[in-house]
Amino acid sequence: MAFKPANSIQDLQYFGEFGGVNPSISDSSTYTFLSAKTMFDTFEGNADGCYLYSRHSSPSNLYLGEALAAMEGTETANVSASGMGAITPVLLQLCGAGDHIVSSRTIYGGTYAFLKNFTPRFNIETSFVDITKLDVVEAAITKNTKVLYCESVSNPLLEVADIKGLAALVQKHDLKLVVDNTFSPLSISPAILGADVVIHSLTKFINGSSDTVGGVVCGTQDFINDLRNVNNGASMLLGSTMDSLRAASILKNLRTLHIRMQQHSLNATFLAEKFEADGLKTVYPGLKSHPSHRLFKSMMNEKYGFGGMLTIDVGSLEKANELMELMQNRNLGYLAVSLGFYKTLFSAPGSSTSSEIPEYEQKDMGLSDGLIRFSIGLDADIERTYKMMRECMKELNIL
Ligand code: PLP
Repeated sequence: MAFKPANSIQDLQYFGEFGGVNPSISDSSTYTFLSAKTMFDTFEGNADGCYLYSRHSSPSNLYLGEALAAMEGTETANVSASGMGAITPVLLQLCGAGDHIVSSRTIYGGTYAFLKNFTPRFNIETSFVDITKLDVVEAAITKNTKVLYCESVSNPLLEVADIKGLAALVQKHDLKLVVDNTFSPLSISPAILGADVVIHSLTKFINGSSDTVGGVVCGTQDFINDLRNVNNGASMLLGSTMDSLRAASILKNLRTLHIRMQQHSLNATFLAEKFEADGLKTVYPGLKSHPSHRLFKSMMNEKYGFGGMLTIDVGSLEKANELMELMQNRNLGYLAVSLGFYKTLFSAPGSSTSSEIPEYEQKDMGLSDGLIRFSIGLDADIERTYKMMRECMKELNIL
């Protein structure tokens, strides 16, 4: 039977302390013990169901982690204060001095900056490759390589990773495949396809209300235990812990993710088809013209569509800026970074979210000045939105 990620979330059942339909929020940083021995055992990790200190874990964080693990089909998960607070400890847990990472060259700018500028301080080197070419990926693997890193659908170019193909490479060379699934929650289930670790920035579609940052690492119980280890766990020691109140609010938003993703995908498909038919250079994995359309189709949980992200190229940064300002003036969306909001968000990644990537490398990977990244919102009448966007483009001689 095909994996049904939304069912897995729905099948969980939590009650609050007084029979509430939502679990109680654990509003404490520390926990009392009836006996000193139990405190010692808990510290040693031997007292199941006991809590010691909330940087390690808290009931609210565990509820959210359990729901996200169910969504991704992993044994368990660990939530964190941001997406970067999930990515950085994973890489530092898996790699030490002398180790090597092979990473997709089109990834979120912050992750790129971490691998390019920060981890070399610890003598961890990264080769950035075209992730869509498995032979190129394999050729970059050295005897020191520990991790293959990619995004299922990349930020901002929307390249699609062949997760099964990469998982086979990882098996062959005894590496770990770490996949950031932020752009395609529910649509793609990387762990089911062979990824060892799945990461999300919860800031985006999963929380969906642009009111917080958050992150999660989904993986095996052993790996999550390693991350939380009080002596040498990167999540525990780097301290990027989510607050319980926030975990409770993200869990409530997660329950509508399946409905939101369907609407994001529906709206994005509508606009992508229209933009392309109008002659705009449009990239969307749901378009037949996308080089990895068939690959995405072969991996996807069909019901949730091809996601809410699309890009168009309007030729120059100047035109891109004019268009974004005009669309914002007409209330068609907001000129803002980030994604996954009810309202459409747009930005020019070359000068914002991917500005950490040097200009010559942006050119090399096909990130052009006139590229606008759209996170398509939940608009009830997408036809009206399209007509209004088209008006803006006509006024600026883009169409
Ligand atoms: N991964 C992807 C694909 C992203 O787009 C982002 C942020 O834009 C992150 C990770 C980082 O997440 P956060 O901002 O929650 O730290």
